[in-house]
Amino acid sequence: MTHYSRRSFIQTVGSGVGAALTAPAFALPTYPDAEPNRKLNVALCGLGRYANVLKKGFAESQYCRLAGVVTGTPAKAAQWKQDYKLPDKNIYSYQTFDQLKNNPDIDLVYITLPNGLHKEYAIRAAQAGKHVIVEKPMAFTVRDCREMIDACQQAGVQLAVGYRLHYEPHHRELMRLGQQKVFGPVRLIEASLGYQLAGTPPDDWHLKKALAGGGPLMNLGVYCVQSGRYVLGEEPIAVTAQYGPVTLPDLFREVEENITWQLTFPSGAVCTSATTSNCTIDRFYAAADEGYFELNPALSYGPFKGRTSQAAFNFPVVNQQAAMLDDIGKHILAKTPLPDHIAGLEGLKDMRVIEGIYRAADTGSRVTLPPL
Ligand code: NDP
Repeated sequence: MTHYSRRSFIQTVGSGVGAALTAPAFALPTYPDAEPNRKLNVALCGLGRYANVLKKGFAESQYCRLAGVVTGTPAKAAQWKQDYKLPDKNIYSYQTFDQLKNNPDIDLVYITLPNGLHKEYAIRAAQAGKHVIVEKPMAFTVRDCREMIDACQQAGVQLAVGYRLHYEPHHRELMRLGQQKVFGPVRLIEASLGYQLAGTPPDDWHLKKALAGGGPLMNLGVYCVQSGRYVLGEEPIAVTAQYGPVTLPDLFREVEENITWQLTFPSGAVCTSATTSNCTIDRFYAAADEGYFELNPALSYGPFKGRTSQAAFNFPVVNQQAAMLDDIGKHILAKTPLPDHIAGLEGLKDMRVIEGIYRAADTGSRVTLPPL
């Protein structure tokens, strides 16, 4: 499959149903002018699986450089130091983390820790005067998200959530088709994401409430929630939800294994979703008055495959992480506010829904979501 640069993707912008199949009209935002020849210096905090995925994003990014690490594992510190030629002063442990405030050569901390550590380290990074990217889910509650946003505002730094799909052409097209009602109003969305966790060691943090916050809803369901929100361009008003069966009781003692939910939006549209740890599912389908559009795979790393009721999609594969890093880097370098879709408030909006889903599943009742 052809790989395109972000710039060539932006240049293919078009409009209309015909053009929609290869050239999404929902262009990425135009970038402000960043300082020429300057990259944002990023310290990655928590060198696990996703930090390794991000390596390729850094390699392709024009506006962000991997300049430091925070790790609790000395062997990883040594390896990353060697691979990225990092000076010792840019290598931190969780104990020395707060010393980042004395290091002008780090601009931003990218937090790829287990979910339960996001809030603490985002706030500590802000207090050290560093901009922050925090991985999804942003935190466990709306209140936590607000604390993180407030801490960053008080410190005068910017806060982003690592929402890579906003930089992916198939998803830009879903937004355009839904929000511009290209096939008429969307009435029903199905969006589901799940992976089999059988064989996972029982001490894995994803299975621990304190570190994961929940099961697949926290880790994967956030993508389903978000796709409904950005395809409709609306915030849900109510939710019903049901826990599914526990097929791996030895693993799922603290967090859910399966959960399904139904979101109602102000237009009357419904988004119905499942997220699971006992099978693989990765799909999105939107039914509108005059047609449909779908992706399968849809919400993972891709490459994605999709179609409308008229024709197949044919969009380029982009490095989602590089595109996201570039957008964040360019805005911060230009000292302009991050776009709404990547800023902290976007994470809070998802958490408002996720909190509601858990409340609905716990109570068995329809939950009206509080105003934002
Ligand atoms: P991993 O378990 O692979 O890595 C987490 C790392 O955090 C560890 O390797 C460790 O790094 C550090 N760590 C610090 N304290 C702990 C602790 N108590 N328990 C376990 N690890 C600890 O997780 P992932 O990389 O898969 O996920 C990290 C975050 O990234 C999660 O929030 C997840 O939701 C998100 N994510 C996002 C994806 C996306 O597509 N946007 C995809 C996958 C994950 P060290 O040894 O360096 O201290």
